[in-house]
Amino acid sequence: MEFRPMRRHQQELAAEECVAILQSATSGVLGLIGDGGYPYTVPISHCYANGKLYFHSAVSGHKVDTIKNESKCSFCVIDKDDVQPAKYTTYFRSVIAFGKISILENDDERIEALRMIGCRFNPNDQEGLQKEIDKSFGHVLIMVMEIEHLSGKEAIEIVREKENK
Ligand SMILES: Cc1cc2nc3c(=O)[nH]c(=O)nc-3n(C[C@H](O)[C@H](O)[C@H](O)COP(=O)(O)OP(=O)(O)OC[C@H]3O[C@@H](n4cnc5c(N)ncnc54)[C@H](O)[C@@H]3O)c2cc1C
Repeated sequence: MEFRPMRRHQQELAAEECVAILQSATSGVLGLIGDGGYPYTVPISHCYANGKLYFHSAVSGHKVDTIKNESKCSFCVIDKDDVQPAKYTTYFRSVIAFGKISILENDDERIEALRMIGCRFNPNDQEGLQKEIDKSFGHVLIMVMEIEHLSGKEAIEIVREKENK
């Protein structure tokens, strides 16, 4: 399947900028095809590594049941939403990834992913992280999203500001 191009392509972010946003943001909204075919958009913390997105979760619930049935998903991060009241607009910047999500089964990969996720949030306490992993390992689920298409867009006003610099 071919992912569609952005209509206003001058507002499109470069691939490195999209990746930088995924690296700096701590959470986004995961879009799944949920119960009854209704889109289920659930906020979740993420970690970007190896060109993929990693998530951790409890082992059951709407999100997990959905992923077991349908791997197609999207993930959206809002990097900037600077509302300009007088202009009735917002200076925005966001990224959307499309891809497929699956549950990691291999224990070595699960431990590695948990370390990456943990370090993402607290890089300075390896001992504390190991304790947390030991405590939660039996009842935590790791999901990995393989990115097939990544796009980023920012408000035209930001584009013009950059051009005028
Ligand atoms: C910034 C942020 C970061 C988060 N990080 C994580 C994370 O890393 N891992 C993680 O597992 N969860 C995280 N959560 C919580 C997450 O949004 C879900 O609530 C949680 O994962 C349970 O989802 P579920 O589908 O299993 O819930 P279920 O209880 O099975 O969902 C049942 C129904 O409850 C409602 N619901 C569930 N979650 C929410 C929600 N957040 N807001 C409104 N309605 C909701 C929906 O109607 C859903 O259909 C985060 C939330 C926020 C806001």
